[in-house]
Formats: sequence, C-alpha cells, structure tokens
Amino acid sequence: MHVLVVEDDPRLGRLLRRLLEEERHVVELATDVRSALELAEEVGGLEAIVLDVGLPDGSGLDVARRLRATGSTIPILILTARDTVVDRVTGLDAGADDYLVKPFAFEELAARLRALARRAGGHEAVRSGLRLEVGSIALDEARREVTADGKRVELSPREFSLLEYFLRHPGEALTRDRLLDHVWPSGVAVTPNAVDAYVHYLRDKLGPSGDRIRTLRGIGYRLEDSA
Ligand code: CA
Repeated sequence: MHVLVVEDDPRLGRLLRRLLEEERHVVELATDVRSALELAEEVGGLEAIVLDVGLPDGSGLDVARRLRATGSTIPILILTARDTVVDRVTGLDAGADDYLVKPFAFEELAARLRALARRAGGHEAVRSGLRLEVGSIALDEARREVTADGKRVELSPREFSLLEYFLRHPGEALTRDRLLDHVWPSGVAVTPNAVDAYVHYLRDKLGPSGDRIRTLRGIGYRLEDSA
C-alpha cells in the first residue's frame, strides 16, 4: 500500500516509516497539517493515511475534514493520545475511518491498515491507485503486471518494486540512497551499485520505453514523465 504518515514526533515518525516499509508499504511522511495537505494533493495513488491528532500547526482532524470536504475517500486512521468517547466521536465525525489510542503496538496498526484496505477495496480512489502509468509504461499493482509499448514485461519482485517507485515519482531526481531506502527492505545489506545493476536490468526489459529512465550523473536516476 502507498501510505501517508502524518506525525510530528520525529522518533515515532521515523519508526513508523521503517516498520511500514518493512511490511512492503511505500511511505510518505508529513510532520504538520500544511505538509500533510500538500502531500495528499500532490502524491497520486495514496491508499491510506495514518494521522496524528496533535500537530504543531493545528489538529489532524482538520486534515481529515479538509480531505473529506474535497471529496477524498482515502481511508484515514487517526492516532489519538486520549481515549475518551468525545475524541473518538469527533474523529469519526471528521471523516476518519478508524482510530488507535497511543501508545499502541505496531502489529495493531498494521492489522488496522489491512482491515481499512480490505474495506476500501471497492473505493474508486483505491482502485485508481492500483494502476500507474507513465508514457507507454503501465503497472497494475493488483495483477502484478507490467506492460511497455503494449507488450507484457516479466519482472522480478525487486525490479517490479523499483519500477513502481519510479512510476510513483515521475520527473523527480531520485538518488541511489533514496531508491535503496524505499525499494530495498531495511536491514538488507546492499550497496548503491545494486541500484545501478537493477536499473540496468529494468531498462533492458522495458525495451524502448526503458530510455525514459535517465541517468543523472553523480545523483541517480529520473523517470521522464514527458515524451
Ligand atoms: Ca503529535
């Protein structure tokens, strides 16, 4: 799943990102109301939001209200420090789908996210997030299928994850370190050279469309989003 975590406590934010990435989620991290709304608008294909209530520039509930007001149906899980009926009701009224009271066990957060994803299975927002397309490259997450120039492309799981990350960040300069952080699970010993090797395989398999993955000398790679 592609998850936006909104948490201003830097330690908890980093921990959530790491644990969710170990569960094969793609994670965006925001630390306040403003950046949460920006990311929710800019990042295509978000499938869930984990939302802290107490943020430095306002309440997480305002993020939920604003998103719902714009018609967003992304499942929202609220993290609240207080377990009172009023807070829970306010959170659900604001448009949240579920809530967790801090402190919580990570396993419980992971389980709640899975349940939200199952319930949201029929949502338009989630369905559209399952298909990523740039130029003539298309990736269907549900079917685990990739086509380039109309032809099926067989990718290894790692190549698939790498392409998925490129397609989620078209036009962005992606450093080798960032690709390592997001595509390889933490704790696995790999060097930046592994990124180069996998990009090479991926380009080869994508045929002419593989040229869209440009090498940025001294930086990393970019998937060109215009012809
Ligand atoms: Ca907080």
